[in-house]
Amino acid sequence: MLQRTLLPALLVVGLTTAAVSDPFRPSIKDQIALGKRGAEQVRKEGKVMPENAPLSIEVRRIGEKLVAQIPAKERKDKPFEYSFSVIDDKDVNAFAMPGGPIFVYKGLLDKLGSEDAVAGVLGHEIIHVRNQHWASAYADNTKRRLGIAVVLMLFNASDMMFDVASVSDELLFGLPYSRRHESESDKYGYDLMAAAGYNPAGMVDVFNVLAKQGKAAAEFLSTHPDAGKRGEAVAKRLKEDKREFPPLRPR
Ligand SMILES: [Zn+2]
Repeated sequence: MLQRTLLPALLVVGLTTAAVSDPFRPSIKDQIALGKRGAEQVRKEGKVMPENAPLSIEVRRIGEKLVAQIPAKERKDKPFEYSFSVIDDKDVNAFAMPGGPIFVYKGLLDKLGSEDAVAGVLGHEIIHVRNQHWASAYADNTKRRLGIAVVLMLFNASDMMFDVASVSDELLFGLPYSRRHESESDKYGYDLMAAAGYNPAGMVDVFNVLAKQGKAAAEFLSTHPDAGKRGEAVAKRLKEDKREFPPLRPR
């Protein structure tokens, strides 16, 4: 009995996830709302540098240059509210909230010698937002928690009961991106950098910096920790890239 009902339903899930957006994934609007809530909390901790601090201005300028490479139609359809801020702390880290807010720690910026390296960090984080990695991780987490039977039942319910307020801080801040998400951010972050006229060698430098930090380093490495290998992958791609890139711009 169970088998008879479960099997077609599983097929439906397979098809649905491939063809239609995942009903367990928070909408873009919800992602933006969650990001705002998260960013507000980060600001409450009192370490975000003022908007007019030179470091904030620099990071915002580079971030906006990268965002400008996203096609206008996509920006209109998926109106993520990107923002770029610096946290005045020695941590060597950076992270993105769903929906757009991106934070970079001064500790990381202090170790980056070029604008291109800063663009490497921001490009990576932008892709986490743009490709809705948090929302996918959240959907996967929900499905795991509910178990297959409940998931199958809910998949056919037209209205998902997602509620922004029901998302705990633990999930908002602590949900790890998958290894696949990290690779995707490296890959498309590279593309964004290149499109904005930066040299992707800056991203290789970021991984070299992170590799020296050891295992405690950064959102970047939480689920895909081999900074050396990831840096090598970027370097290999750069070597095979026939385009010509400008020299690294020292900061
Ligand atoms: Zn990442």
